[in-house]
Amino acid sequence: MADVSYPYQAPVSQTLFDRAAVVTPGGVNSPVRAFKAVGGTPRFMVSGTGPYLTDADGREYVDLVCSWGPMILGHSHPEVIAAVQEAVARGTSFGTPGEGEVALAEEIVARIAPVEQVRLVSSGTEATMSAIRLARGFTGRAKVVKFAGCYHGHVDALLAAAGSGLATFALPDTPGVTGAQAGDTIVLPYNDLDAVRAAFAAHPGEIACVITEAAPGNMGVVTPGEGFNQGLADLCRENGALYISDEVMTGFRTSRAGWYGVDGVTPDLMTFGKVMGGGFPAAAFGGRRDVMAFLAPAGPVYQAGTLSGNPVATAAGLAQLRLLDGAAYDKVNAVSTEIQGLVTEALAKEGVAHRLQTASNMFSVFFTPDEVRNYDDAKKQESFRFTAFFHSMLAQGVYLPPSAFESWFVSTAHDGRAVERIAAALPAAARAAAEATAEAGA
Ligand SMILES: *Cc1c(COP(=O)(O)O)cnc(C)c1O
Repeated sequence: MADVSYPYQAPVSQTLFDRAAVVTPGGVNSPVRAFKAVGGTPRFMVSGTGPYLTDADGREYVDLVCSWGPMILGHSHPEVIAAVQEAVARGTSFGTPGEGEVALAEEIVARIAPVEQVRLVSSGTEATMSAIRLARGFTGRAKVVKFAGCYHGHVDALLAAAGSGLATFALPDTPGVTGAQAGDTIVLPYNDLDAVRAAFAAHPGEIACVITEAAPGNMGVVTPGEGFNQGLADLCRENGALYISDEVMTGFRTSRAGWYGVDGVTPDLMTFGKVMGGGFPAAAFGGRRDVMAFLAPAGPVYQAGTLSGNPVATAAGLAQLRLLDGAAYDKVNAVSTEIQGLVTEALAKEGVAHRLQTASNMFSVFFTPDEVRNYDDAKKQESFRFTAFFHSMLAQGVYLPPSAFESWFVSTAHDGRAVERIAAALPAAARAAAEATAEAGA
């Protein structure tokens, strides 16, 4: 792609990216960060305060990624930073149990009724991987049902038709996952209960669990249809399988009790990450006491982690969760609604066909006129319009997810000034989206 597509260059970031590419594959430690879908130089960030990030070239951006969800209080929240500093001063890892882990587990159990017991891990990937192992161990069955476009971390068995980076790069699957690892995975279209019913009928007594994003955000935001999650829970119950609700993205973000707090559907197991770590590597899985009792050392299903329940990560997560009261969610929801309205208004004014979809305060824009109910629908959008929109926003100091297949995230720190900056950038970005052609964005 010609340099002229990018209204602003970032020389220091480019130098860092060149250095990174020598020692790290693709120059990044997680694929979507490389800007491959949108082109241009990924911004190397050096600091974050409230709703703003500052890059290595000294430019400030209003951040609508929020570290892909975790920074729901904004960057460098003083109370979270203080909790971290206090914890760090007492030591960084003991390899023993500690009170912080108990307090964080109690906070999760208190917020989310279906979670009777919880096990802490270090990433969302570990949480879903462990939940699936536990479901297989508990039921004595092998098969796992997942939905196309849902992302559950880079678990071998769950990478088939996954969203997030795989959607961004249009990778159907990934080499390195063997037939044996993926052979027990059944991939179905999202929002299609008949397909789930048919899978249970075709594999009687073989399906250990159905795993779904509580409200998908990894193919862009796709709201579960009326009764879909409840239908999954019912079908699992009728067929002796476990219903696993992956709330790594939605948990503690879409409400005090995550998406469970929105739709009230009771899963057997749930997974968490992102917000619960306060910007540190902390994640969890939990649910029914009788199922969790199968986990070592209480039961036979092995699961472990050297840094699980790390004292600094748990202190950050606990401090963040304790600040997330009703007023905090009201604030995040309100600013999200406001930004959604501004985006829709700007795109409509330029006549850009688009569809803004939400799951509580998570939202994303699909460049298509039609409702997006599943991954096939999502892939029909005109991504080249997003590319033009993204680069215009970036040049004007607004940092969007560098992919048309991701949710946008806001925080309690997104105040009037931040919203004004977004509003000021939108007209030109909408015009760029209107004028974009498939060739230029290819
Ligand atoms: C981010 C995410 C994961 C993976 O979490 P990591 O911490 O990146 O391993 C799993 N499931 C969902 C729904 C996610 O959004």
